[in-house]
Amino acid sequence: MSRELIYSGKAKDIYSSEEDENLIVSVYKDQATMLNGARKETIEGKGVLNNQISSLIFEKLNAAGVATHFVRQLSDTEQLNKKVDIIPLEVVLRNVVAGSFAKRFGIEEGLPIEKPIVEFYYKKDELDDPFINDEHVAFLGIATDEEIAYIKAETRRINELLKEWFAQVGLQLIDYKLEFGRDKDGKIILADEFSPDNSRLWDAQGNHMDKDVFRRNLGSLTDVYKVVLEKLKEL
Ligand code: UDP
Repeated sequence: MSRELIYSGKAKDIYSSEEDENLIVSVYKDQATMLNGARKETIEGKGVLNNQISSLIFEKLNAAGVATHFVRQLSDTEQLNKKVDIIPLEVVLRNVVAGSFAKRFGIEEGLPIEKPIVEFYYKKDELDDPFINDEHVAFLGIATDEEIAYIKAETRRINELLKEWFAQVGLQLIDYKLEFGRDKDGKIILADEFSPDNSRLWDAQGNHMDKDVFRRNLGSLTDVYKVVLEKLKEL
């Protein structure tokens, strides 16, 4: 069986695996995009850093008993994952006001959110990933009420773990985006990645240690991703 390109995304290419039809190989790329791809740049070294960061986090999530697609890291840029049907939802959890939430509600960035908020966005590029609620998710047939409840509970459980890990290395977990998928048995598991590309991490001085460095032109993205990786290695 040879490796075939299944899907080419903004930050990763997905290939079939040579060893098992239920596995895929995710290859992390150096591309950075924002505004749904309207701004696109190559940032040398980003793929290697995100693969390492995401592999480290997913290994820890697996060890903590969270069901994920992560099998193992294969190389600097590649990891082996379980094949899933991605549920077309961007599941965002917010611990602190930032980004689009600050804009939408006219609140300053940095305000803590006592009960973390879970939001859904419908993953559909041509609609610019609209903000939707649980009832839209059920109406659109994306997930059942039971599945929605499970996804939200898992997202909150993952938050407790991640918040603690990042706090241990001096970083505050502001918000992040997760994606879930259904495996071959229909079980919902955590998929995609966890990296500073899809989370916000602030250091003790409030410096942005994430993709906002690219979005807001604050300096070298890879320099801050390297710091995040080195910190996480201390765990
Ligand atoms: N996010 C993401 N992909 C998206 C949109 C958001 O990974 O297409 C992440 C983003 O990095 C942040 C969180 O989700 O950690 C919340 O993003 P927000 O809604 O504030 O949007 P943004 O301000 O990033 O456009």
